[in-house]
Amino acid sequence: MKIAGQVSIEDLPRIAPLLSRATNPQYSDRQTRVVEVRGVRFGEGRPVVVAGPCAVETHEQTVGIARAVRESGGDMLRGGAYKPRTSPHDFQGTGLEGLCILSVAREETGLPVVTEVMDPRLVSEVAKYADMLQVGSRNMQNYPLLAEVGRAHKPVLLKRGMAASLCEWLGAAEYIAKQGNLDIVLCERGIKAFPSGEYARYVLDLSVIPAVQAHTFLPVIVDPSHATGVAAMVEPASRAALDFGCDGLIIEIADLRKGPPKCDAAQAIDVSTLARIVRFARSRAEELQEQITAA
Ligand code: PEP
Ligand code: MN
Repeated sequence: MKIAGQVSIEDLPRIAPLLSRATNPQYSDRQTRVVEVRGVRFGEGRPVVVAGPCAVETHEQTVGIARAVRESGGDMLRGGAYKPRTSPHDFQGTGLEGLCILSVAREETGLPVVTEVMDPRLVSEVAKYADMLQVGSRNMQNYPLLAEVGRAHKPVLLKRGMAASLCEWLGAAEYIAKQGNLDIVLCERGIKAFPSGEYARYVLDLSVIPAVQAHTFLPVIVDPSHATGVAAMVEPASRAALDFGCDGLIIEIADLRKGPPKCDAAQAIDVSTLARIVRFARSRAEELQEQITAA
């Protein structure tokens, strides 16, 4: 029996006709749509590494971290100017000042910038500073926000809702696509499941990567930082995600010599760990290329 309103994978061509493989035969079996952000290309076989602070706190902190990301071989800078926090009493980000700091960091390093937008009324303002707009897990089903982001003429990083099914996630992406913007990168960031919070922040759903690739042509990256919430797990989770064939990673780092960051300190890794992850990502890409050439 099918309960009214309940959806399953078979419904995807109806829920997401613009993004579903079944309704877009112009994309061959494994072909991914390449999403370009200021010269950085997601979905082309070489995993993209995005890294940066959880929150933009100060000019010195963000520019310092951006330089470290570039020196480690990272491709893009992340950093939240507007932060979705569980408590309204916690640090909420630096807002417009944070966006300006991100622009300076881009000028200093040449790294394209991705930053979160939470409020539909702020989309055009954030789009003036960002190269890619992030819709966070908590807002994955904020449909007015998705539509506004779809109209902003910027690539979008759409994080999976922490309790979202694949159909709900792709349905959310379809809201962006419906505005004429197919430059969407999906991001698995951990879901709530039975053991959530006991030993890791969420449960990193690696099995969703091949499922995403089977059902849509959009690139999919993984956020090992929010998924695990534990610094020591970020590197192994990154390796596992790359083994599952993701198109990139988005990772939080901090300069731990300067004290803990204001948000998500427990999951922040240092720059030397990031450099190791980037090296691993590059060697995996080379291995894959060799396998393709040999086949
Ligand atoms: C973030 O990337 O800054 C963030 C808050 O992540 P998420 O929306 O996945 O919790
Ligand atoms: Mn964070």
